[in-house]
Amino acid sequence: MREIEKLKETILKEYPRLTEDSPFTFRCHSGVSCFNECCADVNIFLTPYDIIRLKNRLGISSGEFLSKHTISPFDENLKYPIVILKMSDNEKKSCPFVGDDGCTVYTDRPWACRMYPLGLASPKEDDDSNEKEFYFLLEESICQGFKEDKKWTVGEWINDQGIAEYTELGELFKGITLHNYLQEIEGLPPEKVDMFFTAAYNIDKFRDFVFKSSFLEKFDVDADRVAKIKDDDVELLKFGFEWLRFSLYGEKTINVKNSVLESKKAEIAEKMRKKSEEN
Ligand code: SF4
Ligand code: SF4
Repeated sequence: MREIEKLKETILKEYPRLTEDSPFTFRCHSGVSCFNECCADVNIFLTPYDIIRLKNRLGISSGEFLSKHTISPFDENLKYPIVILKMSDNEKKSCPFVGDDGCTVYTDRPWACRMYPLGLASPKEDDDSNEKEFYFLLEESICQGFKEDKKWTVGEWINDQGIAEYTELGELFKGITLHNYLQEIEGLPPEKVDMFFTAAYNIDKFRDFVFKSSFLEKFDVDADRVAKIKDDDVELLKFGFEWLRFSLYGEKTINVKNSVLESKKAEIAEKMRKKSEEN
């Protein structure tokens, strides 16, 4: 993970910053000599929405997807859990989804695969150096796509690769991962790491947490919202982000029911009364 931090630093300091109008030349197709070479031995960080797309594509639960196809490396420098696509245990360490004709999950491929050869660098929430989000070009040495003659602007590439569908959820997730609170602490305590992991990455487990526990007895979630999040993974993920803002950062994104607040107040008052009687 230190290598990734180093790469981030190099990108910030040395890579040319591209805007949506910046041009580049690139084409990837089955005729290039490097076809499928990049779909092996690579760190692909999965976003929460990537996991929803892939687990639904494969027709499995998020828990099964996570245990079968991902790793979540621990690193003390990481402020929150991350999920990386697990490469196959073969000589090439190929992606589990690569086939002879290319990506077998192409229409649901992860955000990072869609973006390549572009990357996106985002400043932290408390960044006061006037850093702005920018695109950069990742020119992997094996990649022959840069020798092709197709011209793009960054904006055209983003449209062509269907990246807009990922943007809203990506922005909401960034609101969690780049939050000031996370920058100020050493790391989240284990129970909050678990909550982060469940709400962000293990959507089916999060659904059980909301619907099969006393959650809806304690929190005020209106009936329309309950109906929406019951069967819709994307709506549930948006709700999960609100829950993380509430449970990790103490923001008022979710309301506790008045009856729960009243009974908590009564419980505290009773404890204080007993304590004063003892003294
Ligand atoms: S998900 Fe598809 S595009 Fe991405 S590395 Fe795997 S095979 Fe390649
Ligand atoms: S290395 Fe580049 S050109 Fe070759 S398959 Fe991968 S993205 Fe396409």
